[in-house]
Amino acid sequence: MKDIGAVIDEPYFQELLSRTHPLTRLGTILEKALRMQGLTIEDVAVLVNIKEPSFVSSLFEVAARIKQGIYGERLVLFAPLYVSDFCINDCEYCNFHSRNRELNRRQLTLPEVEEQTRFLIEEGHKRVLVECGEDEVHNKINYVVDIINRIYSVKTPKGNIRRVNVNIASTSVENYRKLKSAHIGTYQLFQETYHRTTYERLHKGPKSDYGRQISAHNRAFESGLDDLGLGVLFGLYDWRFEVLSLVAHSQYLEKEYHIGPHTISVPRFCPAPSVTYTPEYPVPDEDFLKLVAILRCAVPYTGIIISTRERPQIRQKAFQIGISQASAGSVTITGGYGKKDSQPQFNIHDERSLEEVIKDVIKEKLIPSFCTACYRLGRTGERFMNLSKPGEIKKLCRPNALLTFAEYLYDLPSGNGITEQGLLLIEEYLKVVEEPLRSETMRLLQEVKQGKRDLYF
Ligand code: SAM
Ligand code: SF4
Repeated sequence: MKDIGAVIDEPYFQELLSRTHPLTRLGTILEKALRMQGLTIEDVAVLVNIKEPSFVSSLFEVAARIKQGIYGERLVLFAPLYVSDFCINDCEYCNFHSRNRELNRRQLTLPEVEEQTRFLIEEGHKRVLVECGEDEVHNKINYVVDIINRIYSVKTPKGNIRRVNVNIASTSVENYRKLKSAHIGTYQLFQETYHRTTYERLHKGPKSDYGRQISAHNRAFESGLDDLGLGVLFGLYDWRFEVLSLVAHSQYLEKEYHIGPHTISVPRFCPAPSVTYTPEYPVPDEDFLKLVAILRCAVPYTGIIISTRERPQIRQKAFQIGISQASAGSVTITGGYGKKDSQPQFNIHDERSLEEVIKDVIKEKLIPSFCTACYRLGRTGERFMNLSKPGEIKKLCRPNALLTFAEYLYDLPSGNGITEQGLLLIEEYLKVVEEPLRSETMRLLQEVKQGKRDLYF
């Protein structure tokens, strides 16, 4: 097995980035992207260097066609759930850094987790992403497992959380096994920056070990987890280098384990209360959208996640050119749903509620999806990829998205102004579901209307 450290070939990537690429190759690369079989690192190096507005428009157009072809009109929504801000690391960019004495650190008790979960279910969420700092005393793996079990155990008249994804520090195979036994959805871990010297400069504590961070997904795979997420914190280093590295990391996982990452997250640095660090490589909006489009072309079957770190206008554009999942109605304060009485990890730029986000999403003719069917039917890892590449999964995704969106709409209090519009959109997309699935979906939609929940293919 090739060492993942060697996959991030810095001298080669830098050389690729500084080369003048003949833009005549652009057309060929975009045509290749449209075949939806991915791109090479060398292709990606051409794309990250384009500046000419007409080339950028062509890139966005191709990325939008790929997004439409694979993900259709669906947009999966979720919320983060911060359970503990105890942290022994000192990451320059994060407000939970160990030097922060202003932060009244807390770790949620299980009843508090239950309260937060009830809040999210009441809002209409079905998927959460558990987040906490690294602290072997406070945030032991057994604590995280107890949290996950408690979240899954909460059942209310408005349903329950059906998928718990997790974003916690790099850990051991044994600990990843515990997460697997707790039935997590995706295990996400961001490399923050793939540039080794920048990484080592910006981190102190156990996380400062570049090798430990970059090999985490290998250990997770070894434990049996096969649904993994990558990410970079954009702003720490040259975004073009990070995109080459993300694609290289994805291709490495695919080659070694026959399963590429399920998702790639694209967080951009946001200001935070005690953080004096300012990004050395700030990513302007236009470049941010470019990187989303390039990732969509390079790894077409990998979900791309955007968060509320981005303003609504940017999110809206990014949905069109590549994003398949978005957080909504988020709070980045530990235990912050319903009471924002502590400091956040960072300040967000989209403070709308889930309902407000959905209102805008349906204006764009996108279907908010809360679907968790694949994970619950064991369609993960290699099984998921085998179904998703020939387009099989997609046939089921649309009906599943419509069913979960219908649940959301029927559970809203009346007079909200969006139920009617949402149901009209469901009608519209139902027309493109092929028979016999369409009739079956219509039958299930009737059942949802009559109060049945959690119906899926
Ligand atoms: N503590 C774990 C870790 O660092 O891997 C778990 C997740 S941490 C709560 C989630 C992510 O938040 C980090 O990986 C980092 O990329 C991001 N983050 C931290 N500070 C940020 C900031 N100021 N702006 C935007 N994102 C930030
Ligand atoms: Fe701790 Fe994660 Fe924040 Fe770093 S990014 S200080 S590890 S919570």
